[in-house]
Amino acid sequence: MIEYIYHNEASIRLGVFLGAIALLALWEWRWPKRALTQSKLKRWLNNIGLVVTSTLLVRIIVPITLVGTAYFTEQYHLGYANHIEMPLWMEAVMVFILMDLIIYFQHTMFHVLPVMWRFHRVHHSDLDFDVSTGLRFHPIEILLSMVLKMVLIITWGVPVIIVILFEVVLNFMSMFTHSNIQLNERFERLLRWFIVTPDMHRVHHSIQENETNSNFGFFISLWDRLFGTYRAIPEAGHLGMTIGLNQFRDKNSQNFRGLMLMPFYSGIRGYAINYRDTVNARELAQAKEIARQHEEKARLAIELDSFLQAIGEHALVSVTDPAGIIIQANDKFCEISGYGRDELLGQDHRIINSGVHKKEFFKEMWETIKSGRKWSGEVCNRTKDGRYYWVDSAIVPVRGADGEIERFVSVRVDITQRKKYELGIEKVNRELTSANMQLEELSRIDSLTGIANRRQFDEMLHSYLGNMSRSGSLLTLMLCDVDHFKNYNDLYGHQAGDECLRNVAKSIGLNFTRAGDIVARYGGEEFAIVLPNIRKETAMMLAERLRAGVEDMALEHKGSAAAKVVTVSVGVVTIQPEQDTKAEHIIENADKALYRAKEIGRNRVEIFK
Ligand code: GH3
Ligand code: MG
Ligand code: MG
Repeated sequence: MIEYIYHNEASIRLGVFLGAIALLALWEWRWPKRALTQSKLKRWLNNIGLVVTSTLLVRIIVPITLVGTAYFTEQYHLGYANHIEMPLWMEAVMVFILMDLIIYFQHTMFHVLPVMWRFHRVHHSDLDFDVSTGLRFHPIEILLSMVLKMVLIITWGVPVIIVILFEVVLNFMSMFTHSNIQLNERFERLLRWFIVTPDMHRVHHSIQENETNSNFGFFISLWDRLFGTYRAIPEAGHLGMTIGLNQFRDKNSQNFRGLMLMPFYSGIRGYAINYRDTVNARELAQAKEIARQHEEKARLAIELDSFLQAIGEHALVSVTDPAGIIIQANDKFCEISGYGRDELLGQDHRIINSGVHKKEFFKEMWETIKSGRKWSGEVCNRTKDGRYYWVDSAIVPVRGADGEIERFVSVRVDITQRKKYELGIEKVNRELTSANMQLEELSRIDSLTGIANRRQFDEMLHSYLGNMSRSGSLLTLMLCDVDHFKNYNDLYGHQAGDECLRNVAKSIGLNFTRAGDIVARYGGEEFAIVLPNIRKETAMMLAERLRAGVEDMALEHKGSAAAKVVTVSVGVVTIQPEQDTKAEHIIENADKALYRAKEIGRNRVEIFK
C-alpha cells in the first residue's frame, strides 16, 4: 500500500484533487447552502487561473517539491523524528496536529502583519464562497506556505508517506471548508466540534472585519476555541451575510490581472485584524470611525507640520488669545525680533512696537480683527536691541466651535530690505524732482542778473498774445538798451560791465512790480519789459521813469557820449493784439522805436507810432 502510494504520488494527488472538486462542485450545485451573487463561470476561471499559475510558478521557483524534501530528509536522516523510535501511525497523528497548529498560526499572521495581509486579501476578496474559493491564493502566499512546510518537514523529519497523505488531506480540506454545500444542521453542529466546517469557515470570509478575524482554523476546529478566535455565526446570519472585502468589490480588482496585482496596490489601511474585538456591526463601524479619525488626525498633523515648517522658514508667526496676549511664537519671530520665546509669551505685541505708527493705526487694526475680519498691512516693528524692521503682516481671527473668536493668528513676512530700498528710491526721487525744478527754473532765469531770460520772455510774450487777442486788452513791450556799453566794457573791464548790467537790471525791476509784469534780459545789454493792460500814456510814463531810474543810479560812464553816467535808451510799443498778431512784429516795432531813440541822441524814450 505504502509502496503503491510512493510510486503513484503524483497521480494519486491529482486524482483526489479532481475527484474532490467534482464531488463538491456537484454537491453545491445540487444542494447549495447560499445563492451565489456573481457569475460562477468568471469566478471559476479566475480562481482556477490562480491555482494553475501558482502551481506553475512554485514549480519554476522552487526546484524541489514537498515530497522531494521529505525524500531528501529521509536520505540524510535529518530532523527530530529520524532519531527516535515511534510507530508510523503515532507520528502521523502528531505531525497532523503540529502541522495544523502551525497553519493556524501562519494564517493568523497573514491577517496580523500588513505585508502578509497584502497577499492574503486576494483570497478574501472573492465575492462568493464556494469550492473554487479554496483554490484562490496568490502565488506568493502559496510559496510562503510551502517554505514553512519545508522547514517543518526538515526539522521534524516527516516521512514521505505522511507528507503525501497530508498534502492530499490539506488539498481536500481547503476545498471542503470553502464549499457552498448544505449539510444537515445537527450533523454540522456536531462535526464542528472536531473539524472546521464550511459554515464555520464562511464566517471568516465575512465583509465585517470583526468576523473576518475569527475562525482561522484550517482543519482542527479546536484551535479557534482554544485561542479565543472562535465565532459561531455571522451577525447577519449564514444566508444574510456578505462575502468579500470592502476595498475590492470593483470589476477591475476581480479579474485575473487585478488579483495578481492586488498585493501591490497601495492602501492596507484598516487591515482586518484591527477590529477583531468588536461584537457587532455598530461597534465595528464606531471602531472604524474612530480609527479613521485617528488616521485623519495623524495625516493632518503631518500635513500641518510640513505647512508650518514651510511657513516658518519664511514667515514670522504668532498666535494671541482674544485679549491680544501672545500664546505662541515661531522661531522666525524670535529670530527677527531678537526676543526669546519665553520673553514673548504672555506679553502683547506692544513689546515690539516701534512708535513709527500712530495710535489710530493700531486702533483700526484692532477693531478690524475684533470684528472678525482679516487685517493686512505693512508694519514697522522694533527688535529687542532697538533696530527697526518692517513686516508685511496678515492677522486672521480664528473662531472656536461656539463661533466666538478664540485666537488671532498673525503671519508676517520681513520686508525690511524692500522697505529700505523703497524709502531710498523715494528719497532719490524727491531729490531728483527738486533738482529738476531747479534746472527748470534755471533755464528760465538769466544767471547774471537773476531776472527772466530770453526763453521766459518769449514764452510769456506768446502766451500774453494768445490771451489778449481773445480779451481785446492792450499789451505793451519796451526794449531797453544800455548806451555805449561797448565803451563801458573797454574802459572799466568786463567784470565791471557785468556788475553794471546787474545794477541796471535791478533798477529796471524796481519799476515793474505788478503781477503779470515781466522784466527780462533780452540779450547782451538789452532788456525787454512786457506789461499787460496799460494804456499808451501810462506806458510812456513808466518808460520814462525807468530811464530816469537808471540815470539816477549815477554809475559813472566816462565813455558815453550821451551822459557822464550809465544811461539807457528805450523803445516802446503798445498795441491791441489781433488774432494774427505775431510776437516778431511787436518786437520789430519796439526795436524801431529803440533805434530812433538811439539815433536822436540816446538816454531817451521813443514810442512806436
Ligand atoms: P549803443 O548801444 O549805445 O549803440 O552802443 P553799444 O556800445 O552799447 O553798442 P553795442 O550794442 O554794439 O555793444 C554792446 C556791447 O555790450 C558789446 C559787448 O561787449 C557788451 N556786452 C554784451 N553782453 C555783455 C555782458 O554780458 N557783459 C558785459 N560786461 N558786456 C556785455
Ligand atoms: Mg546793444
Ligand atoms: Mg548798447
